[in-house]
Amino acid sequence: MIPVETLRSEVDSRFDEYLQTLFRLLRQPSISAQGVGVDECAGLVVQTLESAGIDARILQTEGSPVAYGEVGPDDAKFTLLVYGHYDVQPPEPLDEWHSEPFEPTIRDGRIYARGVGDNKGQFLGSILAFKLLSELGAAPGIKLKFLIEGEEENGSRNLRSFVNAHRDLLKADAFFAADGPQHPSGRPVVFFGVRGMLAAEVKVRGANRDLHSGNWGGPIPNGAWKLVELLSTMRTPEGRAAIEGFYDGVEPPTDFERKLLEEIPFDEEGTKAHLGITGFDGPADMSYYEKIMFQPTFTIAGLNSGYTGEGKKSVIPSEAVVRLECRLVPGQQPDQVLEAIEQHVRMYVPDAEVRKLAGQPPSKTSPELPISQTAVAAMADAYGVNPVVMPLLGATAPNYIFTDDLGLPAIWTTYANYDEDNHAPNENMTLQAFRDGIVASSVLFQKIAAEYS
Ligand SMILES: [Zn+2]
Repeated sequence: MIPVETLRSEVDSRFDEYLQTLFRLLRQPSISAQGVGVDECAGLVVQTLESAGIDARILQTEGSPVAYGEVGPDDAKFTLLVYGHYDVQPPEPLDEWHSEPFEPTIRDGRIYARGVGDNKGQFLGSILAFKLLSELGAAPGIKLKFLIEGEEENGSRNLRSFVNAHRDLLKADAFFAADGPQHPSGRPVVFFGVRGMLAAEVKVRGANRDLHSGNWGGPIPNGAWKLVELLSTMRTPEGRAAIEGFYDGVEPPTDFERKLLEEIPFDEEGTKAHLGITGFDGPADMSYYEKIMFQPTFTIAGLNSGYTGEGKKSVIPSEAVVRLECRLVPGQQPDQVLEAIEQHVRMYVPDAEVRKLAGQPPSKTSPELPISQTAVAAMADAYGVNPVVMPLLGATAPNYIFTDDLGLPAIWTTYANYDEDNHAPNENMTLQAFRDGIVASSVLFQKIAAEYS
């Protein structure tokens, strides 16, 4: 294995070339939500893969094309599926950018451009790592498959059907991706899963129309009160869902995961001050990170009834609507939770309407697997500091496509700086973070090759 120090200096001596490669991708807008430039960008990613010595081609989906690349011996004992996305968020609001979003600009050690951290500068790290190792005569003896999609910022709507239509092509032993920001301390983050999600709407009715609150006030049922009373039956004061079946199947953290939770740095007072709150919600005997990773949420995401506009309106609202959102944890499925909510609602308000808006299963890989440990060790070597290891992220991503549909262990890490401002104006990636990502993927590929082939 090439020592990390050598990798660093070899990356440094090629850094201008790497920046040019990155800038070429950044200059190509690829806004999936607006359908701008995605085909062109997929083509550029294929060219980038090819110029790194990776066989590459475009694969079509119902939406944006996938840039696919493959390299390594056919009889390799280990195949790593590397995921990334070349599409970016819309750059708006444009007047808040200090330089053009699609004209990469270096200021104060940072590259500013839409998509530099999320995700072009991160997946490119893995492509350049393969190129670097090949040039050093140390191409890893594993197979690498690159799946760079173009719809992540627009909900990865065709990813599941694409992956399932290409199961043989995507056969692998593990999944790897770098996306997201590092820990505020500057340590990289390794995470092994995400929460799932269920979004639903509940609509409750009083009378069949809004009514004068004087002429009709008293005997006429009020939609808003009906909804508030319903909601009050759905949650305990402690912040748990009071819905039968809601927690069915929820898997508590393993001892190993509990230990990881304890090791995640957490500034309790600082967090409260930062958010302007005096305390945290949820059961008092559960840690902050256990609540975020291993407890489902039951959230009111929106509430609407009656009139709160200017002046006053004397009205008995007919209708009241709540948007519910639940983040789901391993062991739960969106439709099972929806069913529990529906049953509860039917019991209290039989004529209420319940409508599913969106759902996505959670996904988890065991951090105790050998490949998980290899990835953590690789990041520690590459950065010279232990990564922050998170069993799960609180957020939701379509990870289940890889863990559940393809049955792969899925390992994520983060190469972008904490303040990358992705999705916001002045998105940036530090030169250091871009450099470190190339080194980190080089170490990871070598370590996997050394341990599994
Ligand atoms: Zn994003």
